[in-house]
Amino acid sequence: MSFDEGVQATNCDATKCKYSAVKMGYWKDDYIKYFVTGYERKTPEINRGYYARTQGVALFIDKFLKKTGSNCQIINLGAGFDTLYWRLKDSGISINNYVEVDFASVTSKKCFLIKKSKILLDAISSQVSEVRIVGSELHAYNYHIIGTDLRNLSELEKKLCQVGINFDVPTMFLTECVLVYMEPECSSMLLQWIANKFSDIFYVNYEPVNMNDNFARIMLDNLRSRGCQFAGVDACFSTQTQMDRFVRVGWDSARSWNMTNIYEYLPEDDRYRMERLEMLDELELLQQLLTHYCITIAWKGGTMADVDHL
Ligand code: SAM
Repeated sequence: MSFDEGVQATNCDATKCKYSAVKMGYWKDDYIKYFVTGYERKTPEINRGYYARTQGVALFIDKFLKKTGSNCQIINLGAGFDTLYWRLKDSGISINNYVEVDFASVTSKKCFLIKKSKILLDAISSQVSEVRIVGSELHAYNYHIIGTDLRNLSELEKKLCQVGINFDVPTMFLTECVLVYMEPECSSMLLQWIANKFSDIFYVNYEPVNMNDNFARIMLDNLRSRGCQFAGVDACFSTQTQMDRFVRVGWDSARSWNMTNIYEYLPEDDRYRMERLEMLDELELLQQLLTHYCITIAWKGGTMADVDHL
């Protein structure tokens, strides 16, 4: 398996984990089932970790949408089989443009699965324009899937322009477990390109952190044995290195929290409900997992300048 194939396979893993948690009732997602074949029940600590990740990311998406209203764009980089577009739509949220980017081999599978499902297709159809699926790309009224390598910035720019991305409209970028797979100079160039090109931006990044202790070494070895390389692990040493990577390349400012803080901040009533779904024997393992992931936000331009706290 080549390095890039190993990275692409991580999407299947993430989708299976999300499906496991959704099936157990951790959160509602009526769409993830269309992107998995077979069901693998994951351990309670993995399910809880994914709960914290999904709800934590949702918290910041919510803040962004409250600030911008519908006049905004979301660009989900390395989106894999993520279902956020459908979930937002179900909550009655419609924005100017929602774009997903991933390797063409991943997006072509996603396009194929969408084409097969009337439920998925109906939700992205509109009276204004028809859904066009051409190979590894999909174009609907305000939803686009683009197949390109995030290390190829000229192609990324060309394709974003083709789908109508406006560099002056408030734009949120989302990466969940993506930058860690990219060589540091490539992720740096990507973040710098975004900061130079767009005038009003907000970034939400979910990723490993504290990658220089024993627990992290075991975690990395385990993933490496399944074919994954972490070319970008240097930025994952601490919440400080996570923030620095943005500020260094022109973002106004950044904040970062490890998932223990995020977990404790999530609404208590839903956490109470969630914690009763399954017995958790290995509390210490969950705590270890949470301290080894973080959410980092960064911004540049006016809209999100005062959103620097949880
Ligand atoms: N963000 C999704 C989620 O949370 O479910 C998928 C996460 S998966 C762990 C990482 C994704 O990043 C994969 O779909 C992979 O193909 C994509 N990715 C990593 N490096 C990439 C690159 N250079 N260009 C495009 N996509 C990339």
